[in-house]
Amino acid sequence: MQAELAKARELVAKAKRVVALTGAGFSTPSGIPDFRSAAGMWAKLNPVEVASLAAFRRDPERFYSWFRGLLDTILAARPNPAHLALAALEAAGRLGGVITQNIDGLHQRAGSRRVFELHGNLRGATCLECGRQVPAEPLLPALRRGEAPRCRNCGGLLKPDVVLFDELLPQGLFWLAHKALDECDLLIVAGTSLEVAPVCEMPLSVLAHGGHLIIVNREPTYLDSQADAVIHDDVATAIPAIVAA
Ligand code: ZN
Repeated sequence: MQAELAKARELVAKAKRVVALTGAGFSTPSGIPDFRSAAGMWAKLNPVEVASLAAFRRDPERFYSWFRGLLDTILAARPNPAHLALAALEAAGRLGGVITQNIDGLHQRAGSRRVFELHGNLRGATCLECGRQVPAEPLLPALRRGEAPRCRNCGGLLKPDVVLFDELLPQGLFWLAHKALDECDLLIVAGTSLEVAPVCEMPLSVLAHGGHLIIVNREPTYLDSQADAVIHDDVATAIPAIVAA
């Protein structure tokens, strides 16, 4: 592992433009469980049965009673050393952006500015009827009373701006993330097992244009054999060790 760490450190030092791709494992050291497994954990249900748009429309109160648990956990969480290390790398002008599957906003709270949140975020909610977008924070009291928040304009249901299981990823954002990948010469994949499409395919575009790949994840991924350095460790230890220099 020391040899892989040294190799990764050297790749970061030599890279002109680094991009990071982060998944749930990036926030588990902050105490946030995976959105997908969390759905099952809190609801004792198949995640698709609670965290899909169809389920949300069918029974918004049930959705929100599950969602409140996730929200409370996220609001209490703090960025971990891996978030801070990426923010520092961006501040030093070395990181072209963070592409993340996480909805917790911890990259921004750590100081990252260029963040592509492929699965959305918790900062806002949108009316399913009139499309009006509102900040999420004023909705918290209603959520805590166990109510599903409604639009002041039209009374429609407000849905948090997170991508649910049966929804498409935001295409504009996806395009911007791909543009960042095209412009980088090193991609750090961290805290994701690369099992969910289309995110699992993103590193391929970097490899296709001759860019380098570092993978930091507790479990092996299908791209380990094609990566320049592979570190099977906690991101909170490994990422600062790689980018600190
Ligand atoms: Zn409305």
